[in-house]
Amino acid sequence: MDRRQETLIRRLAENHRLETEEYAALIRERDPESAALLAELAVAERRKWYGDAVYTRGLIEISNHCRNDCCYCGIRRSNRNCDRYRLTPEEIMSCCEEGYGLGFRTFVMQGGEDGYYTDDRLCPLIREIKARWPDCDVTPSLGERSRESYARLRAAGADRYLLRHETADPDHYAALHPPEMSFQHRMGCLKDLRDLGYQVGCGFMVGSPGQTAEHLAKDLTFIEKFQPEMCGIGPFLPQKDTPFGGEAPGSGELTCFLLSVIRLIVPRVLLPATTALGTLDPFGREKGLMAGANVVMPNLSPMSVRQEYALYDNKIATGEESAQSRDRLAERVRNAGFRLVMDRGDCARSE
Ligand code: SAM
Repeated sequence: MDRRQETLIRRLAENHRLETEEYAALIRERDPESAALLAELAVAERRKWYGDAVYTRGLIEISNHCRNDCCYCGIRRSNRNCDRYRLTPEEIMSCCEEGYGLGFRTFVMQGGEDGYYTDDRLCPLIREIKARWPDCDVTPSLGERSRESYARLRAAGADRYLLRHETADPDHYAALHPPEMSFQHRMGCLKDLRDLGYQVGCGFMVGSPGQTAEHLAKDLTFIEKFQPEMCGIGPFLPQKDTPFGGEAPGSGELTCFLLSVIRLIVPRVLLPATTALGTLDPFGREKGLMAGANVVMPNLSPMSVRQEYALYDNKIATGEESAQSRDRLAERVRNAGFRLVMDRGDCARSE
């Protein structure tokens, strides 16, 4: 690590910001020594806000029907090899019931943009979950919807929403998505969610095709300005039936490096060690936690549909990735030096 790199890292830890070109230099010139210093500072920062707690969310993949055609995603509408399923509201309730029994207090309802899940279907479902388990949080992650729809879900009881921005560079966004999808619309959705009082999660894939250090630097500047409560980043992993099926996967090392940087930019952010990171590397989750992540999201979907939510090839959905194996997950988190806690785990408030 040269002098300039160390100066940037120490300034980032002190001020929680850098110039966009400085983020790019930090990424381009990284080496194991600078990654180790960043991780040490990131873990110390996380400890200030959250001690050794690692929060857990039960992930329910409610539908793999999707009207969108994102070039990287295995559930894109033009993938004819994807076996489509959709959980009924009753099936989602039984996932929550099982999850509640296992100790989960946050349910993330994720899915493709499925026209079946109108507000008129989602709102009663969210209300029912909140009525039966008032100590739980429901976090939809159902893509782009109208401001009015986000307002209705919020009024029904949703407190948080996850919507990755995917990339903060409009040209790169256009290279990853079909022409009918727009960067401005996605960013507009994030603004609407913020205006409506949600705790908002943004995020991006690391190593998506065409991504450069400059693109990642823009992502970091966006995160610095947006100050998300949650931020999901994981490596891009190819899915064979998509236009990007032959592309190389993203790097676990760079993902961990960026987890540390994001922890220093937004110290109190809830930062998952993602399924994609655990799929790329059997110790990916632990490495993510040791780089500054503090959330894990095991899978609570019915076993019968887990293979069908195939965003990328070889996605893990059993073993410690399964909500039913919570004790094994807790042990792995403990072995990495942390403590798995089951409560709602809201974002720590700023000073
Ligand atoms: N439809 C919702 C949305 O667009 O936000 C939620 C579901 S979407 C499948 C969830 C996330 O999966 C996306 O935001 C994307 O970053 C990630 N994803 C999709 N395909 C991926 C791939 N091939 N590798 C890694 N992550 C992927």
